[in-house]
Amino acid sequence: MDFQSDEAILLRRRPLGEPHLLVTLLGRRLGKLQVVAPGARKLLHRYDTRFEPGTVVYVNLARRRRQHLFRMECCETLLTPLRQPVRLPQLLLLSVGLEACERLAAEQAGEEPLHAVLLEYLLCLRSARLSLLLWDGLTARALQAAGFAPQLQACVRCGGALGGARRVCVSGELGGALCEGCVTKGAEQGEEAAGAALLRVPPGTLQLLLHLLSAPFAQLQKLRPSKAQAKEVHAILGAALRAVLGQELQTERVLRQWQETPRRRVLAEFDVDLGAPFPYS
Ligand SMILES: [Zn+2]
Repeated sequence: MDFQSDEAILLRRRPLGEPHLLVTLLGRRLGKLQVVAPGARKLLHRYDTRFEPGTVVYVNLARRRRQHLFRMECCETLLTPLRQPVRLPQLLLLSVGLEACERLAAEQAGEEPLHAVLLEYLLCLRSARLSLLLWDGLTARALQAAGFAPQLQACVRCGGALGGARRVCVSGELGGALCEGCVTKGAEQGEEAAGAALLRVPPGTLQLLLHLLSAPFAQLQKLRPSKAQAKEVHAILGAALRAVLGQELQTERVLRQWQETPRRRVLAEFDVDLGAPFPYS
């Protein structure tokens, strides 16, 4: 028998037959792995949060020789990210964070940096005031932890200096900033026509992107970027994540729809607690 124990974040759960659950975990030491939680479906009720996505748990796992999946022997809750009563923005930010990290994590490989980033994000979701910048911060740092950090201090193509231009060209799809020489070369080869959107951004936006790669999430709640800067940062990081994953996150589509719903009247009619709107929604 192979026995393991680890602190893990529950990324996702699915029914497995009548009584069991198939659970995807992001372990501090074990990385991403799927385990069978025998009999866990019977335990699902509102006072038992052990199997809710986003819960931080301590698990004991066992696996017989030649078996592929671990079996969960014991599961203890360490932290639940959602404070009662649950608000929609909190739930949406939780869902996008979990889906992004699940997709970025490699199967059964050491994912300690990504685990640490997601844990810090979950702790921030408990705060009363949430900003969409938190999601941008997670995108930046999760990409970095997975080895796909956008390159912003030199040209991503040739490694050359960006020069002192008043606006710098940045492309999420291409993975960072580009010097003027590479922008001209790319235009000749029809890169923009092929879908690689280039944004010309002021140095302030570049600074904000760099800040998102290094600042603790708790600090992001206090930042008040201009509407234009926040939009640029959101577009660049969203494009970078889509380029790495090959498609948009399902949950991000829901988040965007919520942002775009005028006055959110439909949801208000159903008496859902919408919480405070994001600062630049
Ligand atoms: Zn270049």
